[in-house]
Amino acid sequence: MKLRKWMAAGLISVVLAAASVPSYIASAAPADGVEVSEGKKEIVLVIDPGHGGSNTGGQIPGLMEKDITLITALAMKEELEKYEGIRVILTRSGDEELSLYDRPKIAKDAGADLFISLHYNKAVPNRLYGAEVWIPSLGENYARAYACGDLILNELCDGYGLYRRGVKTKVGSSGKDYYGVIKYASEFGIPSMIVEHCHLDNEEDVPFFNSPEKLVMLGKLDATGVAKYFGLSSKLLGVDYSHVAKTNVAPPLTPVVQDITPPETAAVVSASLENGQIRAVLQGSDRQSGIYYYDYSLDGGLSWSPLQRWDSVETTDTVTIPGSAQTLTIRVYNQYDLAAQSLTAAVSKGSG
Ligand SMILES: [Zn+2]
Repeated sequence: MKLRKWMAAGLISVVLAAASVPSYIASAAPADGVEVSEGKKEIVLVIDPGHGGSNTGGQIPGLMEKDITLITALAMKEELEKYEGIRVILTRSGDEELSLYDRPKIAKDAGADLFISLHYNKAVPNRLYGAEVWIPSLGENYARAYACGDLILNELCDGYGLYRRGVKTKVGSSGKDYYGVIKYASEFGIPSMIVEHCHLDNEEDVPFFNSPEKLVMLGKLDATGVAKYFGLSSKLLGVDYSHVAKTNVAPPLTPVVQDITPPETAAVVSASLENGQIRAVLQGSDRQSGIYYYDYSLDGGLSWSPLQRWDSVETTDTVTIPGSAQTLTIRVYNQYDLAAQSLTAAVSKGSG
């Protein structure tokens, strides 16, 4: 999955080019992180534990999102304070209720370099799993948040094993960023992001957050991503991230909008029965946001499997499906969870 991020960054260029955005997109972006010049004394980061007070956030039995975002945020702060040259402020350290305006306002008042809101996800229906980062849709705020969000996902996904749902944008009907904290932070001129660590209501993600130690670990991973973004060093931890490579994307001049169309291609290229399993080559493509999951049906579309990871950066994925059947139908899902369904293909009798 390591290539996914590069593909995603490339796709953004493709999308913008398709929208006939001028040539700036082809020009090299300035090295990200240069805003942290050597002359600057201290980086200020504001971490926002999502929800709080009567706003509980997502709930599953025995657990409220507002409580675990705080655990993760406290761990992230503690970890980052092991590095030199950074000051960390929390928007809340107890069960306070804050508005979506109040939270980035704290960052503005603190002169923050970056605002990060921590969340845990839920989806209806509960088929989705994995980690994602939402960022501003425009300009330097986009480019900086993209680079940092990408590094955080490296920690959460490449290192820890969560599925990578990517760095993404969402623009509301007003043409401004859909998520309040991002919209207000952008108005204050502060790069911002929402980190959705995993899905509370999907068994695929449960092993990644189901103990206090894991909630702390997630905060430490967030901290490492941020430390790499700012090129920090820690004598205490014995690390120096001053030369970590970052994904450079050009600051978009028009909003990078979400994908609202389903994938263009969904097909079963071949399927054969081998040793009691179906070996299949699947094809899926979505030029705007890429393919992230597939599911399959062995009964012509009456019932479907759970979502499977689309493990290829190419448009084809070779998969093994347990069980035997005479037909195979698939659906492929893009980064915004929109699906396209294939025709139903015959499964040929293979070696077994
Ligand atoms: Zn939330």
